[in-house]
Amino acid sequence: MPMNESSKTEQIFCNCCLNKTNHIVHHSFLKTEITGHYRWIDDNSIESQIDWQYVYSVLEGRGCETVTFRKDSYFSEYEDNEQPPSEYYPPRISHPLPNWVIDLPEDMQDLMTEVYKALWSDNRRLATMGIRSLFDMYCKDQLGGDEGGFKAKLKLLQDRKIISDEEKIIFEHTIVDFGNAATHRRFKPKYKDLEILVQILEYLLHAHVVELHGNRLKDSVSLPTRNKSKN
Ligand SMILES: [Zn+2]
Repeated sequence: MPMNESSKTEQIFCNCCLNKTNHIVHHSFLKTEITGHYRWIDDNSIESQIDWQYVYSVLEGRGCETVTFRKDSYFSEYEDNEQPPSEYYPPRISHPLPNWVIDLPEDMQDLMTEVYKALWSDNRRLATMGIRSLFDMYCKDQLGGDEGGFKAKLKLLQDRKIISDEEKIIFEHTIVDFGNAATHRRFKPKYKDLEILVQILEYLLHAHVVELHGNRLKDSVSLPTRNKSKN
């Protein structure tokens, strides 16, 4: 497509390329919402306004031509490092849903999809609670029922050698502790920490899927037997 020489280019994450790529900013416009006014106590002559400024932009990936809509918000009373993050439509898929999810039981697939949607929309507490619930489902499937609280479940998984001693410590202090804090103590994890929780969840559930596939392969294929004769 023809490119306007004056078009600004920015690097943003592309849902199509699954990477940060150059995007053309086709159009941007500013909207201001005044929420109040104030005067400094020692200088009544100067009135300042309290406002939100919103910059709406349409961006297009330079290679894949994928179009994205972005809203940037700035509040006059916040420092630069306190401003809210950019909002994208569609939301950025910084961490794609793995393709092996279809091999999980249906209810786990559904919840995995909800967790990733929460992640992409920056609903961090919901994602963290969902990861804890998925771990609970995994425990129930592995143990054949509900075996009490997470401490008891983790101990049983360890005793039955379904998880190693090191894995028990990791799962307890990440998925379970973060999930409990988000569910019961109003904890909101940082995005980068939530991404690590997702990686741990994927490690656990992917191992489960590989085990299912491995058992199926082992039982379903007849390999030729080894010929012991020396010709
Ligand atoms: Zn792209």
